[in-house]
Amino acid sequence: MNVPLLDLKAQYKTIKPEIDAAIQRVVDSCAFAGGPEVEQFEREFAHYCDAKYCAGVSSGTSALELLVRAYGIGKGDEVIVPANTFFATAEGVMLAGATPVFVDADASTALINPALIGKAVTKKTKAIIPVHLYGQPVDLDPILEIAKAHGLKVIEDCAQAHGARYKGKKVGALGDSGAFSFYPGKNLGAYGEAGGIVTNDDRVLEFVRLYRDHGSPRKYEHVMVGTNDRLDGIQGAVLRVKLAHLDSWNEKRRRLAADYRELLSRDERVRWIEEHEHSEAVYHLFVVRVPHRDAVLAKLKDAGIGAGIHYPHALHLLPATKDLGYKKGDFPVAEELADSILSLPFYPEMTGEQMEYVVKTLCEVL
Ligand SMILES: *Cc1c(COP(=O)(O)O)cnc(C)c1O
Repeated sequence: MNVPLLDLKAQYKTIKPEIDAAIQRVVDSCAFAGGPEVEQFEREFAHYCDAKYCAGVSSGTSALELLVRAYGIGKGDEVIVPANTFFATAEGVMLAGATPVFVDADASTALINPALIGKAVTKKTKAIIPVHLYGQPVDLDPILEIAKAHGLKVIEDCAQAHGARYKGKKVGALGDSGAFSFYPGKNLGAYGEAGGIVTNDDRVLEFVRLYRDHGSPRKYEHVMVGTNDRLDGIQGAVLRVKLAHLDSWNEKRRRLAADYRELLSRDERVRWIEEHEHSEAVYHLFVVRVPHRDAVLAKLKDAGIGAGIHYPHALHLLPATKDLGYKKGDFPVAEELADSILSLPFYPEMTGEQMEYVVKTLCEVL
């Protein structure tokens, strides 16, 4: 049996007529860059996130960069980010010219450890970017409290957490703003590159709309140097179709995660990332921790199982961040996670038979 890490074709099969019609609609209208489908998606996604505004952009990475820039954060400023996340969280900060300051993970959740954030705050700190990694909301209240005490912005990185809830409320605009990725493999994924920001702040919305479109409020009237980070029309149309299915897919993810936990509880060598009691996770990934991870991963691959590692290097140990001056041992929990985590095949269309095969093989391999 072959079980991939994720299966976008299986999902496409379930929504093919809707997707094909949506793409055709855009082709017929030739509204390829921005346009009515994008504007409609922005309204629908803001509503979905219980936020006032959404602005579509070209990727999750540009969403992060533009939000950092929207607050006037740049050269000489520091932004606190987790050491255990996808590189783009720190990259967005660096693209805006600011300096990421890493904070270690909590061993049970693999998320940024709120108890360690206070110590990382300096006079230069301007913002905190908590990441709802693997689809699990970060414990935001203590972070919002630190931010308030020091006058910092809170930008949620929601790239893996579309529809996740913290204390009953959807993530995205619980802090000052949120960055979403609609990369194809995300819980809400486009059919190409795409991203978006959500916020309740008029000025942030205005800045992102301006910046993503060459700094021009009206065609050919450029008031500042921006970029071309617009969301394209086909992606807007595809995202509108998929948004209508997101809650049912997330519900399936939650059920499948519960099934995995039940099946895996028969082998005590497998630990999984715990779900916080205050959160409703949407399981972008199903992540376990196993001994001898690299050998286990290789054997799973041999058995046709597409497991993965998210992520194999803590951010402070990457070549791209070496100028920041960190060293091995600085963030022991994130480093230990990078050596032991394993993402098992996981997507809403996964069958019970596939899951049984993954669990049986994993236990045998161990
Ligand atoms: C995917 C991802 C991003 C970047 O999004 P892109 O659309 O790929 O640029 C940022 N942060 C996290 C946590 C992600 O998973």
